[in-house]
This record gives sequence, structure tokens and C-alpha cells, in this order.
Amino acid sequence: MVWIIYLPLILILSYVWFTGGSSNKQLKTEWYEVKESMIPAGDVDKISFITNENKGYVKLKKESQEKYKNRFGGETPKSAPQFYFVVPASFEAEKEFSEARETLPEDKKFKYEFEESVNYWSNILSWVWPILMLILLFYLMSRLSRGVSNMGSGGGGGIFNVGKSQAKVFDKNSKVKVTFKDVAGLEEAKVEIMEIVDFLKSPAKYTSLGGKIPKGALLIGPPGTGKTLLAKAVAGEANVPFFSMSGSDFVEMFVGVGASRVRDLFKQAKEKAPCIVFIDEIDAVGRARGKNVGFSSNDERENTLNQLLTEMDGFGTNSGVIILAATNRADILDKALMRAGRFDRQITIDLPELKDREQIFKVHLKKLKLDPDLDIDFLSKQTPGFSGADIANVCNEAALIAARHNKKSVDKQDFLDAIDRIVGGLERKSKIIPPSEKRTIAFHEAGHATVSWFLPNANPLLKVTIIPRGKALGAAWYVPEERQIMTKEQMMDEMASLIGGRVAEEIINNKISSGALNDLERLTKMAYAMVAYYGMSDKVGNISYYNFQEDGYNLTKPFSEKTAELVDAETKALIDKAHQMAKDVLESHMEGFKELANLLLEKEVIFAEDLERIYGPRVKLEQDERTDKEND
Ligand code: ADP
Ligand code: ZN
Repeated sequence: MVWIIYLPLILILSYVWFTGGSSNKQLKTEWYEVKESMIPAGDVDKISFITNENKGYVKLKKESQEKYKNRFGGETPKSAPQFYFVVPASFEAEKEFSEARETLPEDKKFKYEFEESVNYWSNILSWVWPILMLILLFYLMSRLSRGVSNMGSGGGGGIFNVGKSQAKVFDKNSKVKVTFKDVAGLEEAKVEIMEIVDFLKSPAKYTSLGGKIPKGALLIGPPGTGKTLLAKAVAGEANVPFFSMSGSDFVEMFVGVGASRVRDLFKQAKEKAPCIVFIDEIDAVGRARGKNVGFSSNDERENTLNQLLTEMDGFGTNSGVIILAATNRADILDKALMRAGRFDRQITIDLPELKDREQIFKVHLKKLKLDPDLDIDFLSKQTPGFSGADIANVCNEAALIAARHNKKSVDKQDFLDAIDRIVGGLERKSKIIPPSEKRTIAFHEAGHATVSWFLPNANPLLKVTIIPRGKALGAAWYVPEERQIMTKEQMMDEMASLIGGRVAEEIINNKISSGALNDLERLTKMAYAMVAYYGMSDKVGNISYYNFQEDGYNLTKPFSEKTAELVDAETKALIDKAHQMAKDVLESHMEGFKELANLLLEKEVIFAEDLERIYGPRVKLEQDERTDKEND
């Protein structure tokens, strides 16, 4: 492709170069030389004057050529014209030539003519150039817009391939081999997906009974929970080709490209059936249609989505192409995608629970050189809310930290440091905080810790630090309990612990600071949710206004001004109540609270054991055993 453009260019340039160099072989002379010696001697046959270059070419008479053989420092050329001269623009050629001619006798007269030079090459270049530039520009543009990944799409890049899908293909020959063994946990998802593998391996078993195999499965779950990994494992287990593409790969700045890429992808897939097509981040194309009117880029996306729907309907159920797609935003997907016959299986993947985390740790710890005393159970307990990707990250980070300390193996402390770092950002020991501020921070954090210690429904505390980390100046770390629903009591205790920092500042300093911004933000959200979403306020009642703003055009609220006022008032009442709860706790444990803050100032990090020493063991409510999960 590049050569098609450059080859003619190089030819043209080199031609100009060489011919330009060889046509300049006349010897230079001067006008007075011609006028005063050559013309009077009758040696000049003709002068051709190039008017636009102010240049005259002198042709000698045949019989005079010998005479000038070695004139003006060079061999006189045999072919005419032999000499040239250059004159200033003010030179009046017509006048000068005729004057010089008039004085001569008839046999010595010379001829003269006027010409204009035309440079053919520069003429051609002047219109070839823009065309070449245009081609080059278009080529670069299509090159940029399609990225560099054209693996497996039939190779080749450039303008002729924009409409081709850029799916990566992994088949038997490729080295990527992921199996279910590499995917820890996710038991339910695996069972569902195992069926797909089974179908690809022995389709007859299902079709002989008249059953239809689902065309597609949608994997829904937060980022980093292993959706891509699972899809790859399916391909690895079933031993079929695996087309992988991201939803955003379809979307391009050229109109119509997305749809044509979808077509191409399915064409390729059908040729290689049985196979699996995996579309990551499908929300990039699958977002619900028709919600934002008036943007042309959306039309393009809609066309792409329509094409996708058509293709999914288009091929027979038993053609052996199975589509897997992943998203973390199932709520914004177009309903048509989820209709039976398209993605009729939806597999939800949640953040891993304790047992799953242990499994995931085991997978990723295999690669590390571990301290033999390391307790995997302990690690999984320390990482609630972590996704599979986070855990992989922790393991890697721990290894790096151990290496930095020149250790022979990775131990518990390295993992704890890695977890802290991933949750809170980098420790910034060098940040200088004035002592008075440090004291405020210590009391603030001690406030959080104390309040949560005495409220039985709050999350259990892990540790408190006043070492700045990331953006935070200090932090109280909790072990969030893995619960699916929260009771009103739990939420109230949580809110009281949140405001505990600010209350502590009020009591100790008698003034408040901006350090509680983050706490207050979360507090407000929580209180508002309790009133407006969860129906936890008696006055507002069991009403939920959750997500009423979903489709952006809704300008009318589903509640009256009066209700809005009531919601505001109730939200504030809840926050005031939490404030009072925190204040009561702190005031009744003043001694311990101050001791804790001073200990914190001294040690910078304190753990749950320190609190237990000061306050005695924490009152803990019996956890009610919940067997059935609620989906709400
Ligand atoms: P998603 O597609 O859900 O965003 P990925 O599948 O890309 O997440 O996961 C990213 C990485 O996290 C994987 O490459 C893997 O190292 C790790 N990971 C996630 N979940 C698991 C799991 N269940 N078992 C093992 N590793 C996992
Ligand atoms: Zn705080």
C-alpha cells in the first residue's frame, strides 16, 4: 500500500533530478562578451532569449565552433546552444539585439528569437502532488482509526478494510490456553456455561431430543470479576475457535462501518462454526436505543445495534455459533438484546465471597514464592469487596514489595502492605502536617473508631491510622460484613460512625473543620437513600423514588413539592439523629476516647486489639443466619 504511493513519487523526483542536471551543460558567458567579441566576429548564428528567465542561449555558426573549443574555462559543448548568459530584469532584449545587429554587415548578421520556458515536471507535479497528499492522508486516517490490531481479520490494513471486523481469533494453534481450572470460584456461572461447552462438543445429544440450544449468554457483573476469563475458558475447554472483540471496536467515525463490521464478524464466525464469538463491553453498542435524540453518532450506534440484532436472529439455532457477551451495565442495555432467542441466558457474576476469594488467591499465589507460614484464609478475610482482578493485583504487588525489601519469599506483611496500598493509595510519609492539624486528625479518627466500637450494628473495626495515604489524611478501616441487605438499625449505626469524626472535632476543639467532607457526603447519600429509596421513614412511608430520572428527558418529578420538602426534612432528621447517637457515645466514653486519640498520635497506627484493651471487648450482636439471598 505504501509503495503504491511512494514509487511514482520517487520516480518523478529522480527523473527531475537527473534530467535537470544534464540539460545544464552550456557554458556560462556574459552579454558584453557576446556583444563585443562573438557578434562582431560574426560567430553567432542565433540567440534564443528565454523571457521569463532573463537568460539567453547562444548558438554558434558551424564554422566558428573550432574557434571556441576551450573558452571560458571548459570544453565547449558540440551541440548547440553552446553558451548562455544571464541578464538583469531591466535588460531590454529586443532593443539590445536589434542595435547589435544593425551595425553588422549582411554576412555577419545573427538571428534572435524570444521564448518562454515551460517546466513540464513542475506542471505535472502541481496537480499530482495534491492527489498524492489526499491519498496519503486518507490512508493515514483509516490507519489511525482502525488501530493496530488487525490480527486474524484477514491481515492487511488500510482503506479497503475499514468495514472488516477486527476480531481477534484464538483457535487450536494459538498459544492462549485458559481452562476452567484457571477460573476460581464462580461455581454457578461455570455450571451454566459448562452446558454451552457440552453443546459445542456433542451437539447431537441435545438436538436429537428436539431441544434448542441458547444462542447466546450474557455475563453480567462488576469489572474484574473474571467475565473475560470465563469466556476464554469456554473456548479453551470446548476446543473451538474463539472470536474476541470489544463493543467499542464496532463504533467508528465512519458512517456505516459498525454495521458492516458486525456483518463481517458473523460471516467469519459462520465459516468457522462451531465457534464462540465473545463481545466484551457490549454496552458500547447495546445501549438502549432512542433515548438521546439528535446526535448523529447515536444513529451510527443504533445501526450497529440493529445489525447485531438482525444477525443474531439470522442464523439458525443449530448453526454452532454461540455468542457470549460481557457487560457491567446490564441495566442500560436495550431490551431487544435480552429478548428470548438472543441473549436468553443471563449469568450474573458477583464480587467473590470469602470462599471464592480463597480459591482465587490459590490460583494467583501459585506463581509466587511464598513464606510457608502464610495463611490464605487470613488473606481472604482481609479482602472483602475485592474483585478477582484486585486479588491478582494484590498478589503481584505483594511480590514487588517483598522484592523491594530483598526478601527470599513473600510474607504476610507484604500482603498487608499491598492490600493497604490498593485500597488507600500510596502512603505519603513525607507529607508534612502541622502538629495542631495532626491532633485534630487523631481526634477525628478516634471519634469514628469509638462510635463504631460501641454501636453493635456498625461494621467491625480493623485499624485506625493517621498516616496520610492517597488523598486521605487519616482513615479508619473496617471489615465490611458480607451482607446482601441492610436493616434500618445497621444503617443508623453506620451513619453515626460516619459522623463520629465530625462530632469528635466539635467536642474537643469546639469548632469544626473541612476534614469531614467525605464523611458528610456519604452520610447525606445514605440518609437520602433511606428516606427516598428504601422507605425507611415513617412520615414518607413505603415509597421508593429510585431511578426515576433514568430516561434523561423526564423533567417532571414523580412526587409533589410537598413530598420533596418532607423528604428533605426527614433526611435531615435522620442525620440529626445519627449526630445525637454519636455525641452520646463519645460523651459517655470521654476518658477512653482521649486515651485512644493520644495513643493514635503517638503510634500513628492502632489496631482493634488496642481498642479492646481500652474499652473492653466489643458488644456484638448475634448474626442471624440467612440462607436465602434476596435479590433486591
Ligand atoms: P472482567 O472481564 O470481568 O472485567 P477479567 O476476566 O478481565 O475481568 O479479569 C481480569 C483478571 O482478574 C484476570 O485476568 C484474572 O487474572 C483475574 N481474575 C478475575 N476473576 C478471577 C477468577 N474468578 N479466578 C481467577 N482469576 C480471576
Ligand atoms: Zn472522617
